[in-house]
Amino acid sequence: MKITSPEILNIRSEFPVLDQQVNGHPLTYLDNAATTQKPQRVIDALTNYYSKDNANIHRGIHTLAERATKAFEQTRTSLAQFIHASEKEEIIFTRGVTESVNLVAASFGKAFIKSGDEIILSGLEHHSNIVPWQLMAEERGAIIKVIPVHEDGTLDLPAYHHLLSNGRTKLVAVNHASNALGTINPVREIISAAHQNGAVVFIDGAQGVAHLPVDVQVLDCDFYAASGHKMYGPTGVGFLYGKRKWLDAMPPWQSGGEMIREVRFTKTTFNDIPYKFEAGTPNIADVVALHEAIQFIQTLGKPFIAAHEGDLLTYAANLLQDIKGIRFFGQAAEKVSVLSFTIDGLHHFDVGQLLDAKGIAVRTGHHCTQPLMERFGIEGTIRASFSVYNTFEEAEALASALKKITEKIK
Ligand code: PMP
Repeated sequence: MKITSPEILNIRSEFPVLDQQVNGHPLTYLDNAATTQKPQRVIDALTNYYSKDNANIHRGIHTLAERATKAFEQTRTSLAQFIHASEKEEIIFTRGVTESVNLVAASFGKAFIKSGDEIILSGLEHHSNIVPWQLMAEERGAIIKVIPVHEDGTLDLPAYHHLLSNGRTKLVAVNHASNALGTINPVREIISAAHQNGAVVFIDGAQGVAHLPVDVQVLDCDFYAASGHKMYGPTGVGFLYGKRKWLDAMPPWQSGGEMIREVRFTKTTFNDIPYKFEAGTPNIADVVALHEAIQFIQTLGKPFIAAHEGDLLTYAANLLQDIKGIRFFGQAAEKVSVLSFTIDGLHHFDVGQLLDAKGIAVRTGHHCTQPLMERFGIEGTIRASFSVYNTFEEAEALASALKKITEKIK
């Protein structure tokens, strides 16, 4: 039995939601790939903003408007540093990955995708990184190609290189890490091969940004998107990074206030980036609080976070191996802390409910990756995903609950 260090317990104590009973048991929150919990400093930032600084930004000249604008733009600056963008104007606030993909699909698609062009996705993608490209491809007459997935949950890279080789690919969109299996994709290799073949690359960083090093200049990706709520920040806010050369060349997406330079009934001209892509009053409070989430990650350091999550993953995988009828999905050597499995004779949904009755929160179902589930011939899995505040005792609670569930049935 492994004991959780006081350091981790101290970090855990920053998350008020974790300190509660659910269905008569201490909450064991293992649904972190869906959304992480929020440290007190993020919650305080929201309260603070609404209690002290609330005002609309960019336009006002009064003190509160100036404070709100400063705090909002400070998050942009810290995000640019966080992912090492070369300038803060390359950071656009969105509602999250889904909205970021929709923005790029619509705007980049309109400017750069023509009939007969090819778009490469991977078989590991979340529906958010499939459907917007599909709709755009239909509209522009483009063709979607898919990188196959090996049995262990890694991508078939020779097949990818082959797909690129006809020179017709305009865009490649893949995730940094898979939410369903945890596979970390070799994005540097994917990006450099795409560039050698004249294609632009969009990285869905939903499962990457809080765990893995992200330096967009080293990666050389053209776009990188992430959601605040999966990195200890609020829901309803995220960002899109884009290289200036693309963002400058792309037409506006949503339109209205803020994104304009001058409006006449005869002609409207548009603002510079990032504002060109930020129509209307943004999600100011959540952007402001996101700054605290970034600070939280930076204070701990991603290597520390990843090391603990990796230990939890290994520990839990070992404990669960003994469960009768368990089948794991995703055995890549490089993984984020996602454990996806089925149990013979049990529906994943029933297992999820039985675990919930013991206060254990996991995700069950297709995880918005139906093509991937189809690839494995299953409808869904049970997914436990670990975060920095999880403990070894919680991994044991999961294993012992699963043991009891499987014993009862058989
Ligand atoms: N991509 C991946 C890999 C994800 O895990 C998720 C969220 N489950 C998304 C995209 C969509 O993110 P959001 O719902 O925050 O827009």
